[in-house]
Amino acid sequence: MNKYLLPIIAIIIGVGIAFFTKKDKSISTKLLLSFSGAFLLALTLFDLLPEVYHHIDDAKQTGLFIMCGILLQVILEFLSKGAEHGHVHIHKEDTAFPWLLFISLCIHSFLEGFPIHEHNDMVYGVLIHKIPIAALIGAFLLESSYTRLQIVGFLIIFGAMTPLGTFISNTMPFVAEYVDAINAVVIGIFLHISTTILFETGEGHKFNLSKLLAICLGILIAYFI
Ligand SMILES: [Zn+2]
Ligand SMILES: [Zn+2]
Ligand SMILES: [Zn+2]
Repeated sequence: MNKYLLPIIAIIIGVGIAFFTKKDKSISTKLLLSFSGAFLLALTLFDLLPEVYHHIDDAKQTGLFIMCGILLQVILEFLSKGAEHGHVHIHKEDTAFPWLLFISLCIHSFLEGFPIHEHNDMVYGVLIHKIPIAALIGAFLLESSYTRLQIVGFLIIFGAMTPLGTFISNTMPFVAEYVDAINAVVIGIFLHISTTILFETGEGHKFNLSKLLAICLGILIAYFI
């Protein structure tokens, strides 16, 4: 049951953070983002990558699927402007619903649900990754001039996408054949966003002890989970 609930809880926590911290999304969100990036990257390398290489016999084909995932995420970020890794560009005047952002986030979140199942820990990676993202998107929506219905609709559908992906990958027999290939694509997505997060949270490549500690902590927890 956790595999369906935790990604939804992540969004509730994230939006809660956005609601209660309002404008000071400073150091703590950045550290949480660094931590989540390292944690997701480490879990992908420890859990998901070996699993997929184990299931698909042709290693080069697996590599090709992973590259497709990286490419797909690059394309999604043209549309979302980087919301999947915590980059939201706010235009307060915009009242038109942000369809491109919404659709690319939904595709991303839907695919993200696929590698979640009982015998791996990816649900925790997705949980931790989603909290700061939901906080940033929540802050963006709260500051925007969209109607309450649009905001709630955005969050509910966005929140339902990951459990939907998990449900389809776990229960639909006709996708079972493709689950490993899709998981390889998701590895590419995760590699792209987590490394982007680690890269972007650094300011001018200055040495930053708290960021380094957040990253080490992410790797450590992922290792022992
Ligand atoms: Zn970015
Ligand atoms: Zn930007
Ligand atoms: Zn994601």
